[in-house]
Amino acid sequence: MASKAVVDLRSDTVTKPSQAMRAAMAAAAVDDDVLGADPTAQRFEAEMAAITGKEAALFVPSGTMGNLISVLVHCDVRGSEAILGDNSHIHVYENGGISTIGGVHAKTVPNNPDGTMDVDKIVAAIRHPDLHYPTTRLICLENTHGNCGGKCLSVEYIDKVGEIAKSHGLKLHIDGARIFNASVALGVPVDRLVKAADSVSVCLSKGLGAPVGSVIVGSKAFIDKAKILRKTLGGGMRQVGVLCAAAHVAVRDTLGKLADDHRKAKVLAGFVTLFSGIHN
Ligand SMILES: *Cc1c(COP(=O)(O)O)cnc(C)c1O
Repeated sequence: MASKAVVDLRSDTVTKPSQAMRAAMAAAAVDDDVLGADPTAQRFEAEMAAITGKEAALFVPSGTMGNLISVLVHCDVRGSEAILGDNSHIHVYENGGISTIGGVHAKTVPNNPDGTMDVDKIVAAIRHPDLHYPTTRLICLENTHGNCGGKCLSVEYIDKVGEIAKSHGLKLHIDGARIFNASVALGVPVDRLVKAADSVSVCLSKGLGAPVGSVIVGSKAFIDKAKILRKTLGGGMRQVGVLCAAAHVAVRDTLGKLADDHRKAKVLAGFVTLFSGIHN
């Protein structure tokens, strides 16, 4: 009997760990990461810091926790406000955690269909000191932008928003769940793409195919604070090297395949467009 191969296209989150990932998990050297002693976690975090051009990295259980920790580190004073795209993952899909858990107020700016927010609207959203207002402390971008069809923000645009942030004394966080897809699609190395950002959250379990986890990257001071918040939120894990070992293989084996993934997605999109045209 011929077996039918099923290609599951619900999401890039449904991929199963490869044999190489499972083997690496089984062989991983581990210790208690809450005590700062897991060698595989430390090696992986150093690797991700180097790839993204930041001082330090921290493995976290999910992208949602990575974004929450990042926003809370940058907005650690009560009465803080973060500027967010109205269609951003942080604003739409993360249970309002920055507000319900972090006490951070969201100021939304409309997302354009290409995932950007108009620069003049970002500037207009920055609060001036007034006893009626919360204090703007952070701007968040999303790259690629999920709700805008996976559009990539250009390095020029990110640099421009980074300049605005800096000139107003604000921080810039990038929700880079699929930042490696953006890097490959744009042909810009990921460290260059996120140069203007004070922090980036990167999903390992999306396009890269790891079974579990995200990393956040930033300065050493940012990661030191992030580590405390990760523990507060219950995201400190013990022998987490088993997960980092799989994530290491995901990064090693998948990055070089993303261009081909994009090519296949475009072919598939072409068919979908063709057939939807026939049915309409
Ligand atoms: C998936 C995703 C997240 C959150 O990641 P989880 O690991 O599912 O919590 C954040 N931002 C974007 C853009 C995402 O696609």
